[in-house]
Order: sequence, then structure tokens, then C-alpha cells
Amino acid sequence: MPSYTPDTTIKPVFNDFFGAFGGRYVAEVLRAPLEELEHEFKAAMVDPAFLADLATVHREYIGRPTPFLYARNASAALGGAQIYIKLEGLANTGAHKINNAAGQILLAKRMGKKRIIAETGAGQHGVATAAVCAKFGLPCTVYMGEVDIARQRPNVYLMELYGAKVVPVSSGSRTLKDAVNEALRDWAGSFADTHYLLGSALGPSPFPDMVREFQAFVGREVAQQAKGLDIAALIACVGGGSNSIGFFEPYLDKTTPRLIGVEAGGRGSGLGENAVRMGGDARPGVVQGYKSFFLLDDDGQVQDTHSVSAGLDYAGIGPQLAHLGQIGRVEFASALDSEVIEAVKFFARHEGVVFALESAHAGAYAMKLAPTLPKTRAIIINMSGRGDKDIFISAKIINPEPWIGFLKDEVESYERAQHPKENR
Ligand SMILES: *Cc1c(COP(=O)(O)O)cnc(C)c1O
Repeated sequence: MPSYTPDTTIKPVFNDFFGAFGGRYVAEVLRAPLEELEHEFKAAMVDPAFLADLATVHREYIGRPTPFLYARNASAALGGAQIYIKLEGLANTGAHKINNAAGQILLAKRMGKKRIIAETGAGQHGVATAAVCAKFGLPCTVYMGEVDIARQRPNVYLMELYGAKVVPVSSGSRTLKDAVNEALRDWAGSFADTHYLLGSALGPSPFPDMVREFQAFVGREVAQQAKGLDIAALIACVGGGSNSIGFFEPYLDKTTPRLIGVEAGGRGSGLGENAVRMGGDARPGVVQGYKSFFLLDDDGQVQDTHSVSAGLDYAGIGPQLAHLGQIGRVEFASALDSEVIEAVKFFARHEGVVFALESAHAGAYAMKLAPTLPKTRAIIINMSGRGDKDIFISAKIINPEPWIGFLKDEVESYERAQHPKENR
């Protein structure tokens, strides 16, 4: 096993604003906790004891460094650039979100906080947060929209298994943005003893900087693992932007390789049919404490979005990516739901790896790009998560009949067990 020593000579960059984007547009009451968090974060990231604790958690609990796979068969089938896959999906809990959750809970411990709150949409961030709360012994409350609770039952089950309290949010559209509002409301009254563990590289400063730094370990591992390759492009899917910004981090201040963010093309064009912000109809705005691009309706209200992958189904984008898109350092593309399903099948059959639906957006774009490049070049995909969690969505699409039959049988056998006499 390779020894694992994170590079502690790298000092985190603290931006606050990224060009015109970012900032801290919050109610007066939230200024004090955000200032405290900024102060503690800056101190922790240059404290060898904190970094050593983080390295131990990475190695023992998350399973870092995660593997870097040469996708030999997929590359040969596509007939162009050599494809490599960073397998973040092999991290504990199945996705990159644990990197951020683990970093923030160590910070919360250092700050003496006694309770953790979080928002979740699809439930992936809630699962990662609930897991680290169990591991580090802090009570956990996760705010989740009622609509999301109904459609993401497996993740609700997991959060409760880890011991978290999942609080249904019944305001607004009863989805992620309403869960964020509810978490902010809780925090405004509880910050003396509570840390708000926010899930992506967005929200008011210092969250975009903090989440990027906790995800940047991914990119720094890749920079080591990819030594000697002639890298043409790094490709990552973009929801709020945490897996992509962490993966891109070592290359942000360089001019190569190409950095490509893939957004959710959903069912195609039209407001509400996708979650394409940078390449679509998004407009600048200030929502939930930060300035960035958002999909808004004509009244300036946050627009509902659609994607086959619940994790990319978000109307806003992290402020640093908004800026990097504007200056041209990060390019944006999108993948349709149908292309994403084809990518899941392609990598499963050629590489024995099942991508999460989110990550398969990056896979789908790599399938288009690879054949246009010479065989001497490399492209690296961030597989932000693995696809086990998607089985209730993907099985219905890829092979529906036996799956629906299985679900019916499950319900029937459950009901028979509940009413044994009637069947005698
Ligand atoms: C949540 C999630 C995403 C999207 O979030 P980012 O902050 O953009 O990374 C992507 N992939 C997986 C597997 C996720 O769970």
C-alpha cells in the first residue's frame, strides 16, 4: 500500500470574492458565525495538528488515496485519447461528499461545537454528514424538503440508520432551496453551539473557499497519480460545484490542461427541463447569501430544474466556477439524461465500474471528446460517486420489467408476512 502524506506546504487561498461573484450577503445575525468560521478555518488549515488529524481520517475512515484507473478497454473502444478515471466513488459512503463532511466536522470539533445541522437535496450530503456525525459523536439534524424525502427514501433510511434526525421541510417548493433556508434559520438561533455543515462549494463566504480546500485533496492526488501523462483535459460533473472545483484545484492558475465542467442537460432545452446554468439561461443574482449565476423565472424567483441525477438538479452554481467560466479558464458542456444512461452502461460493460448518474455526465462528455484527440494524450474523468445509490432510478430505465416485477414481489411478500392468517 502506498504511504499517504498530504502535502502540508500548500497554503489555502482565501478569496471571499471571485471576480464579481461570491461574497457574504446575509442577514446581520449570521455575520458573527461566518466571521468566526472564517477565522477558525484559516487557523486550522495551517495547524500541523489539525492537518495530521485530517490525514488520519482520510486514510482510516474515507479510504484515501482513492484509486486512479486506466480505462484501457474504454479507451480502445472509443479509439482516441487514453481515458483515466479517478474513483472517488470508492470513498466511504460512495461519493466525494465525505471529504467535505469530514473536514468540516473536524473543524466543528476544534471550535467546540456540540451539534451539527445540514441541508440535503438528493440526500447524498445528508448521508455523508450523518456518517461523520456518527463517527465523531455529534448529534445531527438534517433539513430535507418533503418532496425530496418522498423520492429519496433510501437515503433517508441511511441517515436515520446513522442516527441523524431528518426534519421534513414543508415550505416553498419543499425541495433543496427550502431546506437551505430552514438550516440557515436554525443556525441564526443556534450558532453558539451548532455548526452548519454546508454541502457544496457555494453559499456565503467562507463556505466556497472551505469546501474547495476540503475537496482539493482529490485534485492533488490526481496530480501525483497522473505524473508523466500528457493530459489534454480534466472532466467533472457540476451540480453546486464541489467535486469539480476540488478536482481542478491544482490546475486553476495554469493555462493547461483544459478544465471541463459538465452540467445536467436533462430532457433538453427550455427553462425547467434541465439544470444548465453556465451554458444556458442563467442570470446573475444573489440567492442564499452569495452572488452567482442562477436559473430564475421572470419574477426573479429560483426556477425548478430537472435532471435524471438528483445531485445535479440545482438552480445555482458555486461562485468560483461562475467566475472561472466567465474568464474562460473552465469550459462548460452539458449531457442529456439519455446520454448519461448510455455512459453508465458503457463504463459498466467496458471497465466493470458503475458511475453515479451525476458522474456519468462527465463520462458522457469524455465519450464525445476522446475520439477527437490523438492516442498519445490523456483525459481524466472524476467519478464523483458510484452508482449503487441510483438503482431505483437506473434499473427502471435500463431494464424496467424485471425490476418492477421485483418491487411488486417485495411488497406482496411483505404484506403476506404482515397478515399471515388471511393467506392460510
Ligand atoms: C452531490 C453530488 C454531485 C454534485 O455536487 P457537486 O457539489 O457539484 O460536486 C456530483 N456527484 C455526486 C456523486 C454527488 O453525490
